[in-house]
This record gives sequence, C-alpha cells and structure tokens, in this order.
Amino acid sequence: MHVLKPSFYDDFTCIGKDCLFTCCQGWSVPIEEDVYQRLVTDSSQLSELAKSHIVYNKELERYQFKFIEGMCPFCNKDQLCNMVIEEGEEILGSTCRTFPRHSTIIGQTEEKYLTLACPAVVEFLFSIQGPLSFVMEEDDKGEKGDTGELYEIIELDVEIRNCVIDILQNRNFPLWFRQFVCVYSMDRIKEIHREGNRGLIIKELSHIWSPFYLEELLKEVGSIQEDKNNGFKQLCQLFSDFQDVAMILANEDMRGSRGKVEELIKCNHNCSWENYEKAYVLWEQREAANFDILMEHATVCSWFWYALKEMNRYYLLDNSYIIILEQLLIKHLTILYYCLHQEISKEMQEFIISLCARMISHRRADMEQVIKRMKKEGRISVAHVLLLLK
Ligand code: SF4
Repeated sequence: MHVLKPSFYDDFTCIGKDCLFTCCQGWSVPIEEDVYQRLVTDSSQLSELAKSHIVYNKELERYQFKFIEGMCPFCNKDQLCNMVIEEGEEILGSTCRTFPRHSTIIGQTEEKYLTLACPAVVEFLFSIQGPLSFVMEEDDKGEKGDTGELYEIIELDVEIRNCVIDILQNRNFPLWFRQFVCVYSMDRIKEIHREGNRGLIIKELSHIWSPFYLEELLKEVGSIQEDKNNGFKQLCQLFSDFQDVAMILANEDMRGSRGKVEELIKCNHNCSWENYEKAYVLWEQREAANFDILMEHATVCSWFWYALKEMNRYYLLDNSYIIILEQLLIKHLTILYYCLHQEISKEMQEFIISLCARMISHRRADMEQVIKRMKKEGRISVAHVLLLLK
C-alpha cells in the first residue's frame, strides 16, 4: 500500500490550550458504545459526568456527548480534555482521537488529510511560500485485495482532482481565475461525467486546460465589467445564510470566539459598500499578495480532500462550488474585519479560516441541501462564482 499526504502531515501537533477553538466546539461528537461503557464503569470522576452527559441518539443510533452551551462537558477551564488528563489518549473515542486527521483508501493508496477546521493546521499554511506539496510513501500494510472495480470508477476522478490542483497552483494566472477554472471545468464536464463517458471527459478537459484555451478564457472573463456593489451584496447575503451556524460554532470560550463572530455578523449587516470598498483597497495594498498564497494553499487542501466526496450525481461540480464558497467567505470575513480594524493579525486570519472550514467543509450533509437551495434561488452558477471571485 502507498500513503499520500500533505508534506507537513507528520509535523502536526495539537497546540492544546493555545488553540483558538477546541476540537469539539459546537459539533455533535459521537462516541463508540464500548468507550461509553468503559467510561461509565470507570471508578474515576469521569464516570458520573459520562452518565449524565453522554446520551444515546435514537435517530442516529449512536452515543454522543451532550454539550453545555456548545462546549464539551469534559473540557476543563483551560479547554483541555479531562478524559485525556485523567486516563490518557487511549480512552478517547475514534472521533476525538483522530481529529483533525482523516483518511480514505483509494485503490492501493491511503490518502491522509488534515482539516483546516483546526487552527494548528492553518498555521502550517502561513509558512509555505511555494506550492503546497504532497508526499507518496510505501507503508508496511502490503497490497490490498481486489480493489479493481471501485478503483476503476474513481481513477479518472483522482486524475481530474490532481490536474485541478496543478491548475490551482499555476501562478502564471491570478488566483481568482484559477479558482474560477476549477468550477468552470467541472461544470463543462458535468453531464459527460455523470454518464461516465471517460473518452469525452478526457477530450473536453484536455481542450479546456490547454495553455491557449486558458489564456483566451482569461482574456474573455477578465474583460467582463463586474458589478462590484452587487457582488458585495451577494457576499453579505452568503454570510447571513451561515451566521446561525457561525454562532453555534463560536462559544464563550477562553479566546472569545463568540465576541469575534458577533462583531463580524454585525459588520456584515451594517457595513456600507463605500466602507467595504475603502477597506478592500487598503487590504489589497497591504495584504493581498500573501493572502493569495495562503488561499491557494487553503483551496488546494480542501480540494485534495473534498473533491471526490460523493454527494449526488454532479458531485465534482458541487464539491467545487462548496470549496469556492468557503474561499469567498474567508475573504469576505477578512475584508469585514479590515473595515473594523484596518489591519488583521495572523491569529485572527487563522480564526476566520478555521471558522469557515467549520461552517462549510464540516457540514457536508447540510451543504448538499444548501447548494440545492442556492441553485433553485438562482444564487449559485458559474456566472455567479465569476462575479463573486472577481
Ligand atoms: S482544533 Fe487542533 S489545535 Fe485545537 S484542540 Fe483540536 S487538535 Fe488541538
């Protein structure tokens, strides 16, 4: 078997009480039955807490933590996990033990991911100036049995995903255009991809991704006069759509995440286009170059993990929409923060990226409905994405 992972994967360590969130904040965290049984029969203080704050969810047929005001009952005042402190990591259920790591087996390769919902993962992205790289290693698990049929179906998807990563990292083009091409090309092949027409998909993508075509496309879409004011209103509407989720994810924690989110929501409602534009110009002069590199990495990280997550018949296209929505929200929240403070710290930028990843990437089931609704309302299409990205 092979292992494919981001180059910084093995360097990840949790930053504990310095974290801007906690792993579990605002989510519904499952726990395996055997772990629950071990906890409740434990003679330590954990047992009483487990009995009162781990409940069985009949609908989902699983045990899960009952949070107190969005926080895990096992979090202590330093926001460290009392289960780990008292019993060691071995006691944890798999969700708590693995976050922010995830993995999927594709054919003979185990792909490993780190989610941007963890601020310590985002921290890595700040230090990488060149394109984000991935490493392929052999592990000692030997070859898997017959993976043929399933792998054949997704083999082309893996190739498509990897080619899109190359495009996202091609700095000969502006970032907004690279992100646009991601959505545009997935839209162009959506029907032939659904039909599984491998030959036509390859032909179409080779055509769209040729240097000549991309140059021409950039000239064409680059010359379109965008309605920035309208784009601003749509971005405000987009954040309004997610503000309730943002409030659930942000609590009265040590780092004041609730206050930060409330401030951004208020600004989103009250900010005028004139103030936003002024802040945008200032932000662009000071931050845009570094921000673009950061966002290139963030887009690549998310696309690497989520491109192949199947939700429906147009999953490559819908996954590209979700990833770009996440990027748009990160940028919008950054500019809103700039409206208020005329600067942004690295810590706040990390907070915004992790918050958006928690609002969007980590809500796959809900996002399918969100995308469906937005399509119905005519609020998401290739043309809309172009308007918002520019
Ligand atoms: S989100 Fe990341 S840094 Fe924060 S507590 Fe969890 S693993 Fe640690």
